[in-house]
Amino acid sequence: MITIAVPVEGDKGEKRVALSPETAKKFTALGAKVRVQAGAGAGANFSDADFKQAGAKVEKSAAATLKGADIVLTVRRPAASALKGAAKGAILACILDPFSDPGGLSALTKTGLTLFSMELMPRITRAQSMDVLSSQANLAGYKAVIDAAAHFGRAFPMMMTAAGTVPAARVFIMGVGVAGLQAIATAKRLGGVVTATDVRPSTKEQVESLAAKFVAVEDEEFKEAETSAGYAKEMSAAYKKKQAKLIAEHVQSQDIIITTALIPGRPAPELISKAMVESMKPGSVIVDLAAERGGNCAVTKADKIVLHKGVSVMGNTNLAGELASNSSSLYARNLFAFIDLMIDKEKKGELAIDWEDDVIKGTLVARGGKLVHPMLTAKKGGKK
Ligand code: NAD
Repeated sequence: MITIAVPVEGDKGEKRVALSPETAKKFTALGAKVRVQAGAGAGANFSDADFKQAGAKVEKSAAATLKGADIVLTVRRPAASALKGAAKGAILACILDPFSDPGGLSALTKTGLTLFSMELMPRITRAQSMDVLSSQANLAGYKAVIDAAAHFGRAFPMMMTAAGTVPAARVFIMGVGVAGLQAIATAKRLGGVVTATDVRPSTKEQVESLAAKFVAVEDEEFKEAETSAGYAKEMSAAYKKKQAKLIAEHVQSQDIIITTALIPGRPAPELISKAMVESMKPGSVIVDLAAERGGNCAVTKADKIVLHKGVSVMGNTNLAGELASNSSSLYARNLFAFIDLMIDKEKKGELAIDWEDDVIKGTLVARGGKLVHPMLTAKKGGKK
C-alpha cells in the first residue's frame, strides 16, 4: 500500500497546500495511506481535524510525515534536505520551476527522487484536469482586477447620481490567455469599460465574446502569430514597433492596466515602457502578472508596489496564492488527477506507472539521479 505525504511548505510566504480534505478522501478511497503534517493546510483554511476526518493521518513533524513515503506532494520545490526519510526513488510532484536555481534542482535530482514538474503538463484535452497553469492563472486573473480596484482611488462602474456622474474606469488587459480572459470577465462584472490586446488572432473573437473591445495591429504577421500548441510566437521587430505605437496611444487614456503576456521559455515581453507609464493619469494602476518572468512593464519590481510619477505598478508574483482556499482546492484536484493515473486500479493502492504515457513523459524531470526531461538535457548541452 503506497503512502502519500504532504509536509508543511518550506516557503513561509506560501499559503497554498498540495492536499485538500476532498483529495485526501479520494486518495484514501484508492487504497493509499495519506499523511499530512500538522498545520500544512492552515494558510488555506483546511484544519488538521478536516484532514483527519477525510481519512488522513496528521503527523507533528516533517520527518514523521515523510518517513518511507512513496509520493510527496508540495506546492513549491522543496530543498533536497527537507525530503530526508522518503522512500528510495519516491515521487515528488510539485510546481518544480525547473528552469530556475539549477543548483537546487541538481541537489534534488541527486537524492534519486523521481521529480515531476506540474507546470510542464502537456496541453492536451486529456490533461486539462491536471493543468496547474490554467487553474492558478484563472484565479490570478481575477485577483489582479480585484487588487487593482482596491488600490484605485476611484470607482469602477459609471454612477449617475444627483451630485453628478462618476465615470466608469477604463481597463486594458494585455495578453488574453487564461488569466487575461478571467481579468476581462471580472473587470466587465465590476462595470469597467474594457479593452484587450494579444498577438494571437484567435483571441479577438474571445475578447469580443466577453463584450470587450479588441485592440491590435492586425497585419499578415498577426494572422500567423500562433503556434500549433496555441501559444504566442516571438514577434518581429517591425511588428513590435507598430504594436508599441498603437498601444502607446491607447494606454494614455486607460485607468487600469492588467498585463499577462508570456511566451513559453522566454522572458516576458516588455509591452509598457517607462514613458508609457508616465503618459498615464496620476492614480492609475498597473498590475503586472508577468512580474515573476521579468515583467511586461519597464517599471515593475517583483513583489513590490512601485509608485512611479503617481502611477502604481503592482508586481505580486503569487496572486493565486492570495486566494489560498480556492487555489489549493484546484491545485490539489490537479494533483489528484495526475497521481490517479499512476495508481493500479486492480491491485488497490499500488503504483503502476506507464512511463511511455505523454502525460508522464511530458512532466518527468528527473529519475534515478539524472535529469531526463528533453528541455533540460538539451539546455545543458547547448549554448546559453
Ligand atoms: P500564456 O500564459 O503563455 O500567455 C498569456 C497570453 O499572452 C497569451 O494569450 C499570449 O498570446 C499573450 N502574449 C504573448 N506575447 C504577447 C505580446 N507581445 N502582446 C500581447 N500579448 C502577448 O498563455 P496561457 O494563458 O497559458 O494560454 C495560452 C493558450 O493555451 C490559450 O489559447 C489557452 O486557451 C490555451 N490553453 C489550452 C489548454 C488545453 O488545451 N489543455 C489549457 C490551457 C490553456
